[in-house]
Amino acid sequence: MNAKSVTFAEKVLGWFDEHGRKDLPWQQDINPYRVWISEIMLQQTQVKTVIPYYHKFMSAFPDIKSLATAPQDEVLKHWSGLGYYARARNMHKAAKIIYTELAGKLPNNLQELQDLPGIGRSTAAAILSLSHNQKQPILDGNVKRVLCRVFAVQGWPGQSGVLKKLWSIAEELVPDNRNADYTQAMMDLGATLCTRSNPSCQVCPLRADCLAHIQGEQSTFPQRKPKKVLPERHTVMLLIQKNDSQDTSHIFMEKRPPVGIWGGLWCFPQFENITAAQEWLTINVGAELNDATSYTRFSHTFSHFKLHIEAHKISVLKIPCETPIKLAVAESSDRLWYNTETNFEGGLAAPVQQLLNRLKKEQSNGTNG
Ligand code: SF4
Repeated sequence: MNAKSVTFAEKVLGWFDEHGRKDLPWQQDINPYRVWISEIMLQQTQVKTVIPYYHKFMSAFPDIKSLATAPQDEVLKHWSGLGYYARARNMHKAAKIIYTELAGKLPNNLQELQDLPGIGRSTAAAILSLSHNQKQPILDGNVKRVLCRVFAVQGWPGQSGVLKKLWSIAEELVPDNRNADYTQAMMDLGATLCTRSNPSCQVCPLRADCLAHIQGEQSTFPQRKPKKVLPERHTVMLLIQKNDSQDTSHIFMEKRPPVGIWGGLWCFPQFENITAAQEWLTINVGAELNDATSYTRFSHTFSHFKLHIEAHKISVLKIPCETPIKLAVAESSDRLWYNTETNFEGGLAAPVQQLLNRLKKEQSNGTNG
């Protein structure tokens, strides 16, 4: 390690000793499994959002065996609301591999960890550093931002050349000792001081060396992803309620195929356009879409496209679940009437959750129907 890295790590660790976070749930009873789950949950999600999910998840799946042997629906249910469901599906797949092929133990080397679904280099390094104190540099979003600013690294960190440069800086800075504390310190510094907007440079331990701070250019680092226009797609969702005087709180849901958008999650019947939705309704339910059935329109943005959703709400006498219908979603065989007065026992796509929340609110206000 050279003199510069000793200075950098010492400054960061000195700050951590005084200000770092030491009481996060995954910092208690540390083991590789607990750290792994926290690291996956923390991807693209803030600590304060993750904490209640983490507690709930850990009481349902306290170890590899409980996660590996749980049905996917159960895992997705505990993930419902955190978004980016591929994380949960990959984590579940990885747990099965660890349980059946690796004697229930997470590997303790970087490459073997990275061979598991959903574990990239930085996540693998964080697991090894935080749970085994191994000397491993990490490079999550927060650390990228700190390094880009301190060393005024030009270019968007998603570009491979820029990423390579950041990894080599991270490798050079990582200390020989107290690696777990250093990793946590770098994450904390990025999350609490070196925030995306208005970083707290006046109390930052790196301010004397930070080129972005010295140049007053904090807001230009890291450079933004070159803008690209997201493709747009459209979909029609049908909110089909039971038209039964005894019972108006049941709504028809079907489960998506295991792969693809919202894989394994429960949705309302979904169609490419209004014509396809109308055809399905005519054949299976004998109902018609019109202005009166139009419920709401909104958009949901995925990382790679924007989805415009048109929702229609109808009441039916016939029950599609009990009729031999052609499914709206190919290959899916799961469908049910969900009682909206109860909690849903399964994973829900975010826009479906949004629509259900609105319906439930209307029901409790007595404006539904
Ligand atoms: S001095 Fe400011 S910009 Fe530089 S690392 Fe610290 S908080 Fe970030």
